[in-house]
Amino acid sequence: MDAQELVERYNAGERDFGSADLAGADLSGAVLCEANLSEANLNEADLSGADLRRACLDRAHLNGANLEGTFLNGAYLSGANLTGANLEGARLHHADLRGATMPGGTAEGGSTSHGGTSGKLSGVQRFFTAVLFPFADSIERHSRSWRMTCACGHSTSIWERGGIRWLAAGEPRRWAFCASCGAWSWHRVHWVECPPN
Ligand SMILES: [Zn+2]
Repeated sequence: MDAQELVERYNAGERDFGSADLAGADLSGAVLCEANLSEANLNEADLSGADLRRACLDRAHLNGANLEGTFLNGAYLSGANLTGANLEGARLHHADLRGATMPGGTAEGGSTSHGGTSGKLSGVQRFFTAVLFPFADSIERHSRSWRMTCACGHSTSIWERGGIRWLAAGEPRRWAFCASCGAWSWHRVHWVECPPN
C-alpha cells in the first residue's frame, strides 16, 4: 500500500490499516484521525504535520520517521519503536506512550543541562520530560531503574544511555553496543530499583 492508496481508502471511510507497510511513505499533512495503524511499518515515513489524533499506533515501527509537528493527541503509541524519530514540535498530550522505548531517539540528539542536578539530557529525554513535565521525575527514576545488561556482565541504565523507559513491563532484549566488551550483542533489559538520590 502506498500513501495515496491509504489516504483514498481512509477518505472512503476505512479505518483499519493494522500492519500496513508504509515504509518511507510521504504522509505529510495527511488526515488520519482514529486510524488503526497498529504494528504498521512506518519506518522513515514522513508524517510531519499529519493529523493522527486518537490513532492507534501500538507497536508501530516508526524508526527514523519524521513526526515534526504531527498531531498525536490522544494517540496510542504503546510499544511503538520511535528510535531516531524526529518528534520536534509533535503534539503528544494524552498520548499513551507506555512501553515505548526510545534509546537515542529524535533527530535532535544534542544534550543540554537540566536544572543543574540531573546532568546532561539527550534530545529524547529533554523532549519527553518537557512534554510529560508532571512525570519528569518519575520518567527519570524509571529510566534509571531499567538496566541493559550485556552477556559479559556490563550493565548500564536506559537513562545513562540517553533513553527513556517508563511505565513499561516485561524484560525485552535489545540489540546494543557494549562499551565494556566493545561488541554489538543482545542485551537483557531488566528492572533494578534505582536507589534514591
Ligand atoms: Zn559486554
